This record gives sequence, structure tokens and C-alpha cells, in this order.
Amino acid sequence: MELQGIISTSDLLSSKLLKNTPIGLYVHIPFCKKKCGYCDFFSIPITGSVPKEYIEAVKSELGENEYGIPVKSIYFGGGSPSLLKPTQIEHILDSIKYSFSLCGEIEVTVEINPEDVNFEWLSDIKKLGVNRISVGVQSFSDRELEYLGRRHNSSKAKLICEWVGKIFDNWSLDLIYGVRGGTIDDWNENLRTALRFNPPHISTYCLTIEETTPLWRVEGAHEVDEELNLKLYKLTHKVLTFEGYSHYEISNFSKRNKKCRHNLIYWRNEPYIGLGAGAYSFVPPYRCGNPKELDAYISAPGKKSEIDSLNIDIIKKETLLQHFRLKSGISERYYYDRFGSSIWEDFGEKLNKLRKNKLVSVRNGTIFPTMRGFYLNNEIGLEIL
Ligand code: SF4
Repeated sequence: MELQGIISTSDLLSSKLLKNTPIGLYVHIPFCKKKCGYCDFFSIPITGSVPKEYIEAVKSELGENEYGIPVKSIYFGGGSPSLLKPTQIEHILDSIKYSFSLCGEIEVTVEINPEDVNFEWLSDIKKLGVNRISVGVQSFSDRELEYLGRRHNSSKAKLICEWVGKIFDNWSLDLIYGVRGGTIDDWNENLRTALRFNPPHISTYCLTIEETTPLWRVEGAHEVDEELNLKLYKLTHKVLTFEGYSHYEISNFSKRNKKCRHNLIYWRNEPYIGLGAGAYSFVPPYRCGNPKELDAYISAPGKKSEIDSLNIDIIKKETLLQHFRLKSGISERYYYDRFGSSIWEDFGEKLNKLRKNKLVSVRNGTIFPTMRGFYLNNEIGLEIL
């Protein structure tokens, strides 16, 4: 396909493809102190903090250019961004501020591992402009934490949630359900404990054990109890919506005005730039990836190891699929303004089938997933693709 000379992050940013579209910036920190048992993410075990060569590489990925492109969110993910020193976060933020124009009060999130941080670290990064924290609690049960191979225990998780809640008014807590041997009561207890800290946002994920993970090597295939997982999913919806959370995305719940603005960019299939080893960028029509090999990344920061030029049909389908992860769905108007065609002309037959199967509903020009469409979301995917 014609790639119009795109081989690096700065080519993407200089290409005028983004014009004045506000984007999200993702910064990948691919280091962890130890690999968790279920981890299928790109992360490399290290001792100590993040190597300074890596920080320099992330900064030079942007080059010394002032792109002037508006940025509406910055997200430090991993791996464990909580292994960064506050000064390292500051250096990366300074480079970003130099190269982009920040859109007013932007969301700046850092993912943290409870075992990595203390009160002072949290206070320091707040002073740098970080205004949202995502805490990887996963469970408040010591048995489950041990099974998952997490480094922290339940008391540490509780202490960190208390500190984060004192310092930040926007933060999220991650929990995992479907852990072997876990009961409905165990999960209920996890949710109740989380609620004691009144987090403005909660993400709940079902445990999957991929063949590449340490847990798979110990256990072999993990028997998934679909029936129990569905009960846990429904319980989560019931408990959290009763407590005033909006179930705004398949796995995510938020209080008013506390949705994750960065992840909404992915769920709306809007453009983003990923910095760091293994990070992906989406600047329509291009989807590009940086190499996962650390040496390859550091020796040529931002040079792409994968570049796909997507055709418009794929972009339309992916846009629909991503929006059907959201309770708000997609409006006919939004689709028309973005693609210049009618959603019903492009997908009428498929949408009617989904409607008939009660996976989506239509109201006031908006098509959105039903609760059944939430927990059978893969069926929507199969139909659209
Ligand atoms: S902290 Fe996250 S990225 Fe790191 S090993 Fe554990 S699951 Fe993987």
C-alpha cells in the first residue's frame, strides 16, 4: 500500500493528516519489578528505576519539532510507570509540552502499582500536572493477590487507595474477577472494599490466562466458568450502579464527569500517538507500531516496525465496534459527519439483525448496545466484521 513516506512518529505528526484534530498521547513504560503470573503485556523485569536511555529515547521520538497539534489527554501506561522518578515524568511532560499545544485542562493519567509508590511520590507527581491515577489493585484478597503473582498485599492496596483518594480527586481502581477458586461472596467483598475508598472510577476485568503467561505454565489451560463469570459481571453492574456509578463501557464504571477521557479516544476510534517501545499509534488511515525490542527502539526511537494503511471499510467497521463498547453507542449524525455516508446505508442489514437479537437498540437517532450487547459483545463483533 502507498505509505507516503511514513516511517516514524515524527513523519506521522508532520504529515498534516491530523490537521487540528485533538489527539491522545500514550507513553509506554515497559518495565516491571517482577512479571505477574497472568501478565500478557509487553513488560521487561528490571531492578531499580527506569533506565535514563529509555527516557532520552522517548523524548527524541518526538524530535525537536513543534507540531502545534492539540493534545487532549496524556496517559502513562505499562508496564509500571510508577517505577519512573518524578523528574523523569517531568522531563517527558516537558518534551510533550514543547512539541504539542495542550487543550486547556487536559487529563494526565499515570498507572501505578501499589508496591512502587509512597505518599511523597504521589504528591510530587501531582505538582507536575498529573491529575489522574489508575491504581492496579486487582484484588483486596491476599489469597487472590498471591495467586495472581502481584507484589503487594491487601493492606498495601488499601493504604495506597487511601493516599491516592486524599491527594487526587480523579482516580481509578482496577479489579480482576474470575480468579480460580473465587466465589460470588469473594467478589462481592472485593467490590464492597473498593467502595469504602469512594473511587470516582472503577475498572473490572475478567481474568484470562494466555499461553504466553507464567500462570499458564504452572496451570496449563485455565478452565473458565462462563456461567459464574456472567453472574459476577451482572453482580458488578448491580452493585456499582446502585452506588451511583454509570456503567459507561463494558468493563468500566464512573461517577459523574469522571469517565476516562483518554480511553474514550480508543473507544471512539479517534487518533492517538503512542510513544515508547511497543507503543501503537492510530492516525487514519495508518496504524503503526514501535518495535518491542528495547535495543531496536532505543537505537532508532519512533522508527516503525509495523505500518498498516487501513481502508475506509475497515475504519468504519472498527469505529462501529469500538462505539458498541460504550453505553452511549454511536449517533447517526456523528457517523455521517465523520464518514460522509449514512450508517444505515453502510450497515443497515447488520444493525437490523443485531436489533432483532436484542444486542443493540435504537433511540433518537442513536444506536447503542443493550445490557445483553454488553456481555455478549463478541457477538456484535462477529456480526459487524
Ligand atoms: S504490573 Fe502489569 S504490566 Fe507489570 S507484570 Fe504485572 S500485569 Fe504485567
